[in-house]
This record gives sequence, C-alpha cells and structure tokens, in this order.
Amino acid sequence: TDQQLWTAVDDYVVERLVPPDGALEAALTMSDAAGLPAINVAPNQGKLLMLLAKMAGARRILEIGTLGGYSTIWLARALPADGRLVTLEYEPDHAEVARANIARAGLGDIVDIRVGPALQSLAVLETEGEGPFDLVFIDADKPNNPHYLDWALKFSQPGTVIVADNVVRDGTILDPSHPDARVQGVRGTYDWFAREPRVTATAVQTVGSKGYDGFAVGLVTG
Ligand code: SAM
Repeated sequence: TDQQLWTAVDDYVVERLVPPDGALEAALTMSDAAGLPAINVAPNQGKLLMLLAKMAGARRILEIGTLGGYSTIWLARALPADGRLVTLEYEPDHAEVARANIARAGLGDIVDIRVGPALQSLAVLETEGEGPFDLVFIDADKPNNPHYLDWALKFSQPGTVIVADNVVRDGTILDPSHPDARVQGVRGTYDWFAREPRVTATAVQTVGSKGYDGFAVGLVTG
C-alpha cells in the first residue's frame, strides 16, 4: 500500500541520514511505556526542525505542545550552550515524561517546561518579559492555532521562523465546512498567514511514516 511504501522510504532516509541517538530513542520508548500517544514528529522531521533552528541561528526557541519532549530534544540540540527553549504542555503527565526525557538528553538546563493551557502560559511569559524568540514551533491543540500565531508574532523579531505542524490532515483542509474543529483551526492557520503582512509563509505536503500531512513555515519580515 501507499503507507507501507512511505514508511519504507522514511526508514531508508532515517537509516542514511539520521544517525542512531540514544536519548531520542529512549524518549520514544519511555513515552510509549508511559502510554503517551505516538503523535510526535518523525525522526526525519525532527532533524528538519533542528536544521531550521540552526539555519535561523536560533538562540531562543518557543515550542507549543511538548508531549514527551521528542521534538523538544531535536530543537534544543540546535541551541548553543547558553541557549534557551521554553515548551508549553497542557497535560501534567506528558510534561513529567518530557522532563525525564529531556534530562536524560542532557538538556535540562536549557529547556523550561511550562505546564498548563498554552494560552495561559503565553500570557505569563509575557508578564515575565520573555521573548523575542528566534523560532516558534506550533504543535498543540489545532483549534487554537490562530491564537498561537498571534502570540508567535508578538514574541518575534524580523528573522523569526514560525513552524506549524499537521496543516494538511489527509487533505481534509480543503473542506470549508468540515465539522472537525482541528481542521477549522488549520484552515485558520492559512487565513492568518494569508492576511498577515509581516510574515511570509508557505506550506509543504508530506507523506511518510506518519501518513499524509504537511507543515507550514513562515518568516517574520517586518
Ligand atoms: N511536539 C511534540 C513532538 O513532536 O514530540 C508533539 C506534540 S502533540 C502533537 C500535542 C501536545 O499538545 C499534546 O501533548 C497535548 O497534551 C498538548 N496540548 C493540547 N492542548 C494544549 C493546550 N491547550 N496547551 C498546551 N498543550 C496542549
């Protein structure tokens, strides 16, 4: 089937280009053992996040949606020793698993996990004078994507990269009256990018071990 082929090609890409990494593999094993859903980014996608952060010269990263910290570890690996990554997670159980995974990866000092609804955590970060961030990765509850984009822009400077995951969803995004609030949130993501003159963006469809989906990348220009 198509899915088998996509998975086989992802396996090939990972085998050639993503070297085995104990901390990343342990993060997946421990997340699975703790009963977390396997909705983390794929290894080759995680490496793309790391490369984007490196290309952006990121020193400060904001992640919305931690889960077990798999993408967090990839992103934090792009940071210099004095870098900082703030990641926001609603579920205390997920955050606890992530904390252990991130500590095992030796990244406990540069990663700050905030537990609670991200919209609340974002408001707290603002009162703390956080930002600007050089890269923002949006991968949480999709209905809130437009709000997360507002915050990403608020916490940005020219050159900030904004990445949003799962913006194709098997093509369901084509249906303007789709009943799934996640689909509407993703459509809102496109609307947001389309109307925001300070950000230039595109989206790419992907197939792979995680099925048929895609990601959006935006650059803050003004
Ligand atoms: N970025 C992770 C990775 O690739 O390893 C995957 C994140 S998973 C797709 C989405 C996460 O967002 C879940 O852990 C979920 O609990 C969290 N989440 C859902 N609603 C949230 C909210 N309102 N605030 C913060 N996190 C939320």
